[in-house]
Amino acid sequence: MTLTRYGASREAVAELLAGEPRYRTDQVFDALWTQRIDLDAVTTLPRALHQRLTEALPCALTEIVAQTARDGLTTKWLWRAAGGAQIETVLMRYRTRATVCVSSQAGCAMGCTFCATGQAGFERHLDAGEITEQVLRAQHASEQRVSNVVFMGMGEPLANVDAVWESVERLHGDLGLSARHITVSTVGIVPGMRRLADLPLPVTLAVSLHAPDDELRNELVPVNRRYPIADVIDAARAYADRKGRRVTFEYAVIDHVNDQLTRADQLAALLTRFPGGAHVNLIPLNRTAGYAGHGSQALRITTFADRLARRGVNATVRRNRGVDIDAACGQLRARETARLDG
Ligand code: SAH
Ligand code: SF4
Repeated sequence: MTLTRYGASREAVAELLAGEPRYRTDQVFDALWTQRIDLDAVTTLPRALHQRLTEALPCALTEIVAQTARDGLTTKWLWRAAGGAQIETVLMRYRTRATVCVSSQAGCAMGCTFCATGQAGFERHLDAGEITEQVLRAQHASEQRVSNVVFMGMGEPLANVDAVWESVERLHGDLGLSARHITVSTVGIVPGMRRLADLPLPVTLAVSLHAPDDELRNELVPVNRRYPIADVIDAARAYADRKGRRVTFEYAVIDHVNDQLTRADQLAALLTRFPGGAHVNLIPLNRTAGYAGHGSQALRITTFADRLARRGVNATVRRNRGVDIDAACGQLRARETARLDG
């Protein structure tokens, strides 16, 4: 397997540096992971060694486009990876810190009807180096320190658990992120959720629910036929119990599809007395080319949120960040493809 800059382990780097003074490995690791400096900008290495390292540890991702939203707070990248796969990363800057949203696969096999990535289908899994590199490359473009990583870009992380977990361990161990600041978002792959519960780090789990009843969820999230709501909720409860962590439920609010008050009541019934208290994130749906529905108006969403609150379930209404740059799952790639085709 070829080495990549952020896929190479400390042992692999040490091996590359055989013959050099022993402190070199620490020096390289410190620059790349602790100080988070772009290797090109590292000035403390002898020139020949710097060149040798740059060649031996190539980046896995080549920038196709990077775009910053008008507010200057959100930047989105479209990268090309080995074999031509295209993936997206989003950086969200806050006052003193930043969050990076990473892709775990090129494409996705889950086929959620409203999702641009799902509409495009599955291409391949990303490896741990490709996943981790997205965080470091975004860090290089951020004055704020990246403190949070969310697996909410392209792909289903729990359909690629080995690589995702390896990346989580590096983000935790080498980059120094706290496990609770790493969020794995899943469409509800029950065996993957159970595996995640068995792994040692208490990462935050987010479950993309989008509907409180199997009939509607089967339509929006086809994998619900395999792992129906009751099983997903059971696995989420087990995770919360095991880790002592609050679980988040994502709900893309679709006008007159899943935003009726009867559905708020059904959702509340699923989530009351949830261990650690469940939290619902209500996100107005972003329009995508392959799906006719659209996001609900703000008033309908707050009415839905109030209804949940009255039934004892906490809900936050999220604004879409960077809508002007299509900073939602799979949308930049979809637009670039359309532009290049058209
Ligand atoms: N596959 C994982 C993680 C990637 S998707 C999952 O589904 O959870 C990250 C989040 O974006 C999910 O909650 C997903 O449902 C949501 N999403 C996808 N397409 C969207 C759209 N068009 N508008 C709003 N949210 C969307
Ligand atoms: Fe895949 Fe998540 Fe999109 Fe569904 S919402 S198709 S699981 S990326």
